[in-house]
Amino acid sequence: MSTFSLDPGPDQIAVRDWLHGFAADVIRPAAAEWDEREETPWPIIQEAAKVGIYSLDFYAQQYFDSSGVGIPIAMEELFWGDAGIGLAIVGTTLAAVAVLANGTDEQIGTWAPQMFGTPDDVKVAAFCSSEPDAGSDVSALRTRAVYDEAKDEWVLNGTKTWATNGGIADVHVVVATVDPTLGARGQASFVVPPGTPGLSQGQKFKKHGIRASHTAEVVIDDVRVPGHCLLGGKEKLDERLARARERAAGGAGSAKGKNAAMATFEASRPAVGAQAVGIARAAYEVALDYAKTRVQFGRPIIDNQGVAFQLADMKTRIDAARLLVWRASWMAATNQPFHNAEGSMSKLYAGETAKWVSSQAMQILGGNGFTREYPVERMHRDSAIYTIFEGTSEIQRLVISRAISGIPIR
Ligand SMILES: Cc1cc2nc3c(=O)[nH]c(=O)nc-3n(C[C@H](O)[C@H](O)[C@H](O)COP(=O)(O)OP(=O)(O)OC[C@H]3O[C@@H](n4cnc5c(N)ncnc54)[C@H](O)[C@@H]3O)c2cc1C
Repeated sequence: MSTFSLDPGPDQIAVRDWLHGFAADVIRPAAAEWDEREETPWPIIQEAAKVGIYSLDFYAQQYFDSSGVGIPIAMEELFWGDAGIGLAIVGTTLAAVAVLANGTDEQIGTWAPQMFGTPDDVKVAAFCSSEPDAGSDVSALRTRAVYDEAKDEWVLNGTKTWATNGGIADVHVVVATVDPTLGARGQASFVVPPGTPGLSQGQKFKKHGIRASHTAEVVIDDVRVPGHCLLGGKEKLDERLARARERAAGGAGSAKGKNAAMATFEASRPAVGAQAVGIARAAYEVALDYAKTRVQFGRPIIDNQGVAFQLADMKTRIDAARLLVWRASWMAATNQPFHNAEGSMSKLYAGETAKWVSSQAMQILGGNGFTREYPVERMHRDSAIYTIFEGTSEIQRLVISRAISGIPIR
């Protein structure tokens, strides 16, 4: 087992510095433009693909880094550059992780590379779970998947919402219910291959922040996918459904399916927390520089304890958030059980920290902080999503309180 270390090794430092250079030279200068345009920054994704940052290989290397900190380091640097462009670059990994977590080796080999395309022909992928009536309550999904045995095809019908890259993706991963009576246990994930008839983009949302990342509804109207597009395969699904039915009928069954899903969330949440740490660090750095140079009453404003203490608290919370993120990532990489929902803790704390730190940064910049001449107002808008997506802060607290108490708190 890899021991927990706060000292990144030489390989991790090299990756961090390389990503920092890309974030500083390519992402940061383009951030304001793509935020205003509110469009997917294809040229930046292409640039990232050319240098190897937008590629399956790169994320796989970081994902399988035995210390666990490969992904958090990468996320922090890219999102330090800009969160909207950062999400446009890493949004595909949401779908890739769904295939990695649920797919067979063959499915991973087929779909994961297609999600990224090639540097000359980049593609993005989308993970479609949320629905208008099923956000925090994922057990309420209505999108149905019905098996057509004669053709060995699955027929999908429903409407998805809030899908990052929804409709502009080549490959969509869709979560649907196979047996609605079983709630979340009756669901399965399906790959919808590029160009499949019946899948279309609905409304594209105009957003408060992360505006360079595309978010849209996805309409699924009699979408037929081959049997092999069911992630994990039919045999595994049938076994899982049989266990769930047995449990529902009061039999022994097993809680394995639910525990596996929870473990996957716990393992993926720190990556989202790391993105929030990147935003917080970026806003803090701007505020620190500003406080040292802005003169009022004949001295830099940082000479006032009121401002200096604010910066001290900002830095302390950012470091605390990073420590929680790294701990949870290391736990995931070393297969440790998340007895206290440490993954959720890291996402909760980092998300709240990004929102708080960026708001403090705006205050320190005074009137300038409120304008688009300075980046902190964009960072503050971007930070707001980190208490909402990938499980709201309230849902993280629910998960943590259940884990620490053993009580099914509602
Ligand atoms: C920009 C963006 C990108 C997204 N990307 C994706 C994506 O790629 N794929 C995808 O599937 N989804 C995505 N989502 C969806 C996101 O995960 C959901 O918005 C989120 O889970 C919350 O669901 P909801 O919006 O329906 O809010 P609701 O679940 O309706 O919650 C509303 C409020 O009620 C609170 N609440 C709900 N239940 C409880 C409870 N039991 N206890 C206490 N408080 C509670 C919530 O915390 C929240 O404050 C994205 C959303 C956004 C905005």
